[in-house]
Amino acid sequence: MSVFSHVEFDHHQQVVFGHDKASGLQAIIAIHNRNLGPALGGCRMWPYVDDQAALRDVLRLSRGMTYKSALANLPLGGGKAVIIGDPHTGKSTALFQAMGDFVESLGGRYITAADSGTGVAEMQIMAERTRHVAGAGVRETLDGGQRSGDPSPATAYGVFVGIQVAVKHRLGRDDLKGLRVAIQGVGQVGFNLARHLRDAGARVWACDIVEANVRRAVEQLGVKAVTQADIYGLDVDVFAPCAMGGIINLQTLDLLRAPIIAGAANNQLADAQLAEELTSKGVLYAPDYAINAGGIIDIYFERSGGSALELKAHIEGIGATLEQIFSRAEHQGKTTTAIADQLAEERFGGR
Ligand code: NAD
Repeated sequence: MSVFSHVEFDHHQQVVFGHDKASGLQAIIAIHNRNLGPALGGCRMWPYVDDQAALRDVLRLSRGMTYKSALANLPLGGGKAVIIGDPHTGKSTALFQAMGDFVESLGGRYITAADSGTGVAEMQIMAERTRHVAGAGVRETLDGGQRSGDPSPATAYGVFVGIQVAVKHRLGRDDLKGLRVAIQGVGQVGFNLARHLRDAGARVWACDIVEANVRRAVEQLGVKAVTQADIYGLDVDVFAPCAMGGIINLQTLDLLRAPIIAGAANNQLADAQLAEELTSKGVLYAPDYAINAGGIIDIYFERSGGSALELKAHIEGIGATLEQIFSRAEHQGKTTTAIADQLAEERFGGR
């Protein structure tokens, strides 16, 4: 299997394959870059069709984490782990203990966390074998309560801050009173985002494939329900994707009417080229990996032991970073994604 000539290989500093015969563990850990600190990134469990697919994912995702942490002003590098296996049928205590040993073998150069297919329970098993695990403990939340491992309220707050900055930049408005926002997906992040928006006086429309999630947002927050098909064409100020990736594509591009796209979903652009299309349509796009960094900031603070107030202030820094991205993009006539990459590279000393 070729690693150095792989299309997703981008000066990764370390790529390690781990196998444990007794538990059946097959995993890969990729460390993209550690210039700013230890490489932090989630541990994904997925039934990859083959090793190549797993390698592709881990190379791509670990690189993304370097950029995300740099943009979030964290002293962290980028890494990722993938376990080849079905998260519904393939989990066992022995498997995650073996994964914990694998993480430990890197001596802290890589710090793991929950991702698709893994959660707090798996992090706790790994934490029996290594201290290089984030998201396995209990600590104070932004509003002073106790929580274990769930970064979504922090992500939602970061997106809310990002929307405020985008609205100021694109619409010249200082407050969100009466602002019209469409949220696609009112799960953990989308629901919390809707609450912040409602509290700020915005009007929110939402859709979800799970009827109960829409009902909860309607009943608890006064959000207006719309169908999945109608969400794109609403006459709103902000479209906030908080469901899944790839939702800005050639089909939806023609339907979207909002002058601002700012939401939590990862990999919103189905194709990197679409950033150009958005710019030429006059749409201000908040790069997903810049605006949705509240979660990784939360994870970092859980490990470093910062207070809830310090956490909140750091998340608010997402706003300053986005403002820098928006202004530079405008002055240099480039896309916000090109500028976000450039800014991240300046910060981690890459390229
Ligand atoms: P979640 O699963 O709790 O919520 C996603 C919601 O979207 C669910 O209610 C789901 O039913 C709905 N959904 C799925 N497909 C849909 C569709 N086609 N149309 C409308 N709704 C649909 O996940 P989350 O934790 O709220 O994360 C939301 C997004 O933000 C994901 O893309 C995630 O990768 C990203 N993200 C989350 C965090 C975090 O801290 N949770 C951090 C960074 C990025």
